[in-house]
Amino acid sequence: MDITVNGVESTMALGEKIGSLVNSGDIVCLTGDLGTGKTHFVKGFAKGLEIFENITSPTFTIVNEYDGRLKLNHFDVYRVDDPDEISAIGFDEYIFSSAVSIIEWANYIEELIPAESLRIHIEKQPALGDDFRKIHIDYTGERYGYIKEINI
Ligand code: ADP
Ligand code: MG
Repeated sequence: MDITVNGVESTMALGEKIGSLVNSGDIVCLTGDLGTGKTHFVKGFAKGLEIFENITSPTFTIVNEYDGRLKLNHFDVYRVDDPDEISAIGFDEYIFSSAVSIIEWANYIEELIPAESLRIHIEKQPALGDDFRKIHIDYTGERYGYIKEINI
């Protein structure tokens, strides 16, 4: 599914909608170049999980944990040079848990991501304007079928 949005608020609104639908144990992979809006998507996503703290990118800490309707693990693996580094922090214990996990730059640790996951890719649309983004959503696994409920 492809959704074109105009403006950061629309990206956050889509994040919030998906955050309101996710279930315990869900794994969301976020990809897209620097500055496309991954962290802003997570800000909305957290709101959908009833997390009202300010979300900032855990670029240096790799993971931030939050409590809402469900627990949220927010990863940013941009600075991870080798997937072994992230295995070492107990990545599997984080993602195979009752928490929801969302991972910025998931493409850097492809081999650690389970096939059954929700994948969101954000791209700039310079031909349309600075604040336009194309948000591509797909998934593997019946558990993510709620995505079909999104009709924007
Ligand atoms: P990333 O985490 O992908 O590096 P950020 O969310 O940190 O990106 O930053 C995205 C930047 O792009 C912000 O400055 C934001 O205001 C701007 N922006 C403009 N339009 C959008 C949009 N439609 N969605 C998300 N961010 C947008
Ligand atoms: Mg970011």
